[in-house]
Amino acid sequence: MEVAVRDLAPLRAAILEWYARERRNLPWRGTHNPYAVLVSEVMLQQTQASRVALRYPRFVARFPDVTALASASEAEVLAEWSGLGYNRRALALRRAAVAVATSGWPSNLRTLQDLPGVGAYTARAIGSLAFGWPVGVVDTNVRRWLVRRLGLDPRSPAGASGALQQVSDALARAGGRRLRPADVASWTHASMELGAVVCRALRPACDACPIARGCPARGRAAPMPAAQQGKFRGSRRAYRGAILRALAAASEHALRRSDVPSAMTSYGSVGGLAGAFDPQQVQVAIEGLERDGLVHADGQTLRLGPKETAATIAK
Ligand code: SF4
Repeated sequence: MEVAVRDLAPLRAAILEWYARERRNLPWRGTHNPYAVLVSEVMLQQTQASRVALRYPRFVARFPDVTALASASEAEVLAEWSGLGYNRRALALRRAAVAVATSGWPSNLRTLQDLPGVGAYTARAIGSLAFGWPVGVVDTNVRRWLVRRLGLDPRSPAGASGALQQVSDALARAGGRRLRPADVASWTHASMELGAVVCRALRPACDACPIARGCPARGRAAPMPAAQQGKFRGSRRAYRGAILRALAAASEHALRRSDVPSAMTSYGSVGGLAGAFDPQQVQVAIEGLERDGLVHADGQTLRLGPKETAATIAK
């Protein structure tokens, strides 16, 4: 492993050089503010970068720091999150803000990954991007170029997640020239960017690749499609999304239960559902949202957010 990592140092240098030249101008790039990084990384967990690019600036404008997010109600946070999907992330993000506002930022990976909604991967991303900790990240984009460029079999132990994480960590820590803390964030971005725009899942752009020389997969990389999500149209997720959008748009984020289907028609074009809601599916979706603490019943009114609104830091 050590020999392989030492050999990879020139690859890292080539990728960093390429990134400095070709990087996309995404709104979360260039900041080392831990809060801003936390928000962007949680959004990027399950939402496409193009959609995050549209919504992230608005979210951080509305909740500009940890204190603002921790002080907001769950309903306000969910309303601002509406449309990004996987809405439980919004509640976890707010809980993370409460934890940081109360106790400060964690000082190591182990405690950082214990923040609500963070976990091992996101902790590494925040640690490197915000704090300059020399730790590697392995998302699907990084994994793809590592496997192809190193000629690894993803089904073998060397291509397994743990082994790739070790390579990624070693690249961030050493591999010849040690990165300065200020360069660690660039490396994390560059490493992910290469897989996102050059060593793509289906049609890698080998001719534009800064590490094409010596790549065993050059010009013949097998497609590595991402795991397919289930059909969205008419799905439980589509119903849940339409209900949450309707509540997010409603006055005080509340609707009479009987008005929910018509409000969904107004706001529920997501997933091609507009005007074709199955009342039974609506009911099932509401029950699921209640169980997840994303909505709650208040008599005949349905409100966004969980019943207990721990809306303040003090509380
Ligand atoms: S040469 Fe092609 S397959 Fe190899 S790392 Fe570059 S883009 Fe990926």
